[in-house]
Amino acid sequence: MNQIPPVNLARQHQLIREETEAAVLEVLSSGRYIGGAVVSEFERQFASYVSVSECVACNSGTDALYLALRALNIGQGDEVITTSFSFFATAEVITRTGATPVFVDIDPQTFNIDVDRIESVITSKTKAIIPVHLFGQPTDMNAVMAIARSYNLFVIEDCAQATGARWQGKPVGSIGHIGCFSFFPTKNLGACGDGGAITTNDRAIAASIRTLKEHGMSDRYRHDAIGLNSRLDTIQAAILQVKLRYLDRWNQQRTEIAAIYDRLLSLLPGIELPQTLANSKHVWNQYTIRIKDKEEDSQPYRDIVRVKLQQMGIISMVYYPIPLHLQPVYKDLGYQTGQLPTVEQAAREVLSLPMFPDLSFEEQQQVVYSLKDCLN
Ligand SMILES: *Cc1c(COP(=O)(O)O)cnc(C)c1O
Repeated sequence: MNQIPPVNLARQHQLIREETEAAVLEVLSSGRYIGGAVVSEFERQFASYVSVSECVACNSGTDALYLALRALNIGQGDEVITTSFSFFATAEVITRTGATPVFVDIDPQTFNIDVDRIESVITSKTKAIIPVHLFGQPTDMNAVMAIARSYNLFVIEDCAQATGARWQGKPVGSIGHIGCFSFFPTKNLGACGDGGAITTNDRAIAASIRTLKEHGMSDRYRHDAIGLNSRLDTIQAAILQVKLRYLDRWNQQRTEIAAIYDRLLSLLPGIELPQTLANSKHVWNQYTIRIKDKEEDSQPYRDIVRVKLQQMGIISMVYYPIPLHLQPVYKDLGYQTGQLPTVEQAAREVLSLPMFPDLSFEEQQQVVYSLKDCLN
């Protein structure tokens, strides 16, 4: 029996091999490997894709988030509100600026920040909110922006898993003050290495990020801030220009695959299927189900199912087994187990099934049959 991985990037590469290789070879022959027209052209194309006026490319989604916070002068003494259910980088960058992350529980339907719980954690120190469009599904941005307006807060959208998603017709990354994207290979728009970008309609913010991402250099060898070295490689920009042309098609394929999973899994007891909000376009970076827990305090039943699936050749993933507020490194923030119960339950129950644009129907059937076997 052939194994089904969570993603298969080699298969995707075969579809665009000639174009991608030509683009890479052109950069290699040009002799220009840092910056240049290829990077600025990608920035222009990506800004247009997200419907914003400014895009600054950088080295990763993590750097994009960090640069966004720095450009807004967030640091020591400030608080930044975010969800407890995300990749660690979302919180890590807050801490790295010197500010304190404040974690909010999630909405059990979408796994995104529970917008009804944001106001209760706002203090005089709060400077910004970072909603994360987890698994490719937009957060309720109407609610987030309304709160931000009434308390005068910045909004930085973590769009790492949601390139191409839309909230009420608007691309994610164009709604808050800043959008942060990752081009890590497994994201919806993935490079062949690391990459990231910031989107905004604010020219001053974009200019500040351009300075910060190059050692805080405002003029040649004149430094106004302690920054980073965070560039999108020219080769990666060339690859991303090719892949951006396919992104909508790939996101459409992901949507069709999600609909097939929904159908094939619909009558299976003991699991819950992902739910989507009306008026939003989910781009399915992950198809994440819940394996309902059988007994509190023991090992999550999900873990047992996952091992059985693996023995049958189906590699599933757990995003994420530990909520951010319970990460060992954040012990000193003083959160207790049980404090954010919805995210803690999700961390025990979530299971992401294989999901990539060219996953075949036969492979999906194999995933579903195996899952049925495991649950019996
Ligand atoms: C991937 C990811 C990041 C970090 O992006 P990198 O490019 O890997 O640095 C940040 N936030 C979320 C939600 C992510 O999924």
